[in-house]
Amino acid sequence: MFNSSRINEFSNIPTPFYYYDMEILQNTLEIVKRESSKYGYHIHYAVKANANPKIMTKIQSYGFGADCVSGNEIKRSLESGYPPNKIVYAGVGKSDQEIQTALDSDIFCFNCESIPEMELINEMAEKANKIAKIAIRINPNVNANTHHYITTGVEENKFGISRWEFDSVLEGLASYKNIELIGLHFHIGSQITDLSVFKGLCLRINEIKQWFSDRQIFVDHINVGGGYGVDYKHPDQNPIPDFVTFFGIFNEFLNLEANQELHFELGRSMVAQCGSLISKVLYVKNGVKTKFAILDAGMTELLRPALYRAYHKIENLSSNGETENYDVVGPICESSDCFGKLVSLPATKRNDLIAIRTAGAYGEAMASRYNLRDIAPSIFSNELN
Ligand SMILES: *Cc1c(COP(=O)(O)O)cnc(C)c1O
Repeated sequence: MFNSSRINEFSNIPTPFYYYDMEILQNTLEIVKRESSKYGYHIHYAVKANANPKIMTKIQSYGFGADCVSGNEIKRSLESGYPPNKIVYAGVGKSDQEIQTALDSDIFCFNCESIPEMELINEMAEKANKIAKIAIRINPNVNANTHHYITTGVEENKFGISRWEFDSVLEGLASYKNIELIGLHFHIGSQITDLSVFKGLCLRINEIKQWFSDRQIFVDHINVGGGYGVDYKHPDQNPIPDFVTFFGIFNEFLNLEANQELHFELGRSMVAQCGSLISKVLYVKNGVKTKFAILDAGMTELLRPALYRAYHKIENLSSNGETENYDVVGPICESSDCFGKLVSLPATKRNDLIAIRTAGAYGEAMASRYNLRDIAPSIFSNELN
């Protein structure tokens, strides 16, 4: 993927930096557009995956909406041209100020995660003399078979409203005059590569929909969230997830009423493969059992390996020597600041360029200034040359 002319261009740019291949992004967005349009599905981009303004503007240019989890994400989406009527807003801890921002912006829908939250939105909407449109985020108790830190759809975690609360939700809704229930929302986790999980979700939603329609509650839309995974092991062979099968599953297994819309909130699957973190080797140091390749990028630029022990493919762009094993680590003063143990790389030396792949989602977005480090800049393929 990284041809030698690109590597020459990289060598003039101070490291570390995020590199975005806009062709991969564009190809991905085209396929999402084509496959979702087949069924008339509505796509909201999950801004938390990557809120870089250039990425957001590009995604907006395809007509997708935005899925936000904070007031600032709502503001960033509006600034990037997303129309308010395509913005949804989720989160277990929406602050008063954030709710106000969403009300002032007349967003499409609040995805509500608790009864006290609905009470507050109702109260604030009344003061603003508005009717807030809401969906209830339901915890469908479906296990996403993914890392437990990114599983959100089982009853023991903090997200959503569980089945045993439905009666009190309906009671509440009957008395809240300034909110209108327009949807049911689900999001069960992230990096889900086992597509049977989505089939299971569809079947569970069918049951839950039935529960509501038995009580004469009908909603305009179902929102199934995001969570579709990407191939971290083979970014070049699988740069674009199989959206044909993904959307096909919902078409096949989810029972929608006539005119009922289906919405998605895709984050990782849209942006992960277009991004790489480019870094340089500062030192190669001999350890007791292994050699360390110490990079100038660390958990401050890409937190996922330290946070979830996530795997990212690591490539040495400068060497084609004999392969050896290295523990590839960052400069931060934490033992968890490690991108991979016993990584097989061609013989590696100081100043070699290293690409950490599939870093377009939850990479730049999770960067921090820990150790007072500078925030790494981002470079776009269509702005080089
Ligand atoms: C994070 C999140 C998403 C996006 O998840 P991906 O795994 O990146 O697709 C969608 N909806 C909600 C509510 C989220 O919190």
